[in-house]
Amino acid sequence: MAQPQEAEDTTALNRGYAETVMQAVRASGQLYANGLGMIASENIVSPLVQDIVRSDLHGRYAEGLPGKRYYQGCQDFDTIESLGISLAQEVFQAPFANIQSISGTVSNIGALKALAKPGDRITAVSTADGGHISHARMGAVGLRDLNLTTYPWDEERMEPDVEASCAVIREVQPKVALFGQSVFLFPTPMKEMADAAKEVGAAVMYDGAHVLGLIAGGQFQDPLREGADVMTGSSHKTFPGPQGGFLLSSSEDEAFQKRLNNAMFPGVCSSYHLHHVAGKVMALAEFKEFGAAYAKDIVANARAFAEALAAEGFDVLAESRGYTASHQVLTRHGDLDSGAGAKAAALLEEAGIITNMNMLPGDTKAMSPSGLRLGVQELTRVGFTADEMSDVASLYARVLLRGEDPNSVKTDVHELKSTHQIIRYCFNDDERTGYPL
Ligand SMILES: *Cc1c(COP(=O)(O)O)cnc(C)c1O
Repeated sequence: MAQPQEAEDTTALNRGYAETVMQAVRASGQLYANGLGMIASENIVSPLVQDIVRSDLHGRYAEGLPGKRYYQGCQDFDTIESLGISLAQEVFQAPFANIQSISGTVSNIGALKALAKPGDRITAVSTADGGHISHARMGAVGLRDLNLTTYPWDEERMEPDVEASCAVIREVQPKVALFGQSVFLFPTPMKEMADAAKEVGAAVMYDGAHVLGLIAGGQFQDPLREGADVMTGSSHKTFPGPQGGFLLSSSEDEAFQKRLNNAMFPGVCSSYHLHHVAGKVMALAEFKEFGAAYAKDIVANARAFAEALAAEGFDVLAESRGYTASHQVLTRHGDLDSGAGAKAAALLEEAGIITNMNMLPGDTKAMSPSGLRLGVQELTRVGFTADEMSDVASLYARVLLRGEDPNSVKTDVHELKSTHQIIRYCFNDDERTGYPL
């Protein structure tokens, strides 16, 4: 038994922990409210989605599918999930949609569970060429114990070498031909590779985690009509919802659809985070209204940002293809494996610009790469225009090319951001900001 004095001390200590958490949560919010969030996988959610993710739903369960539940109390959630399934079918033009996945990685594990058995073969983009860890042996592909062969890569075009990849697919005869990347500048030329996959009886899977919002907004490619049987993705990157995932299919086959649903529950989820599912449904409703404009503005901003960076003197990748056709821009800051990307990211952070280092073609060390992968989807969401992308590029140049003290640049970063607080492309009649705490 603790003595009274000790109990008091313990309480003070635990209150201290609580205070530490709250302070850090607020500080993190302030960092992004005042700074420029430019990590390509991130976004901010609309005020209505914010309200939903802090609702009572966060503590509830609804295993199964609408109308087929194991628990009572799901009636209202059934309304939400049923609406969400039909909105997702519409937004992604998908005959099948499951909206339960708690992340893009979980969508991939579920899809791979439905499409392949342990020991089967799979083809995918290597992580060195921009493939996601879940496409690798160290991630979901390994978890399912699949035999991985990676596609030959065209470094100039930043996409699979189509002819050589078709040859690999014909030779390996995989069960699943997986396409899509995390470093994703240009649409994957799907047609021939999907045909080769079909020829050998492989299912075609497209991981649209990064580009789902661009796809749904009609600005990237349309995988479900370019041969993909299944499309997975995150609900929080260019698709501007809460963290979570989607599992979509072009198949009308009910037995196959059932396999996909079963792969999600009971396959890889029990509770599937109802507050986030409801948030996704709201984001889908908002996307139907604003998504096409949002996607268009993202791609225009990325292009404008890449051009502005190049004009400042930065080495921006894929110049011959116009730099980018997505939300991403890649920059090189020094020699391969030099860690120049890590240094650049650290300096930018001091100036209030949040980015991530990234391996570029030829880099071999994930912790000391030469480049940055930048995304403009969050800035676009708070109203940055293509013209303002040159203001952002000039802040980069002051920190990274002209050697200005990042702390003095930070003042200008904060000033620029202070005029971009209201979240757009959503139902936001009260003009609430994207940064709640
Ligand atoms: C981000 C990403 C994922 C994983 O998504 P999470 O929602 O973070 O689990 C999967 N695939 C690709 C290609 C990604 O870029």
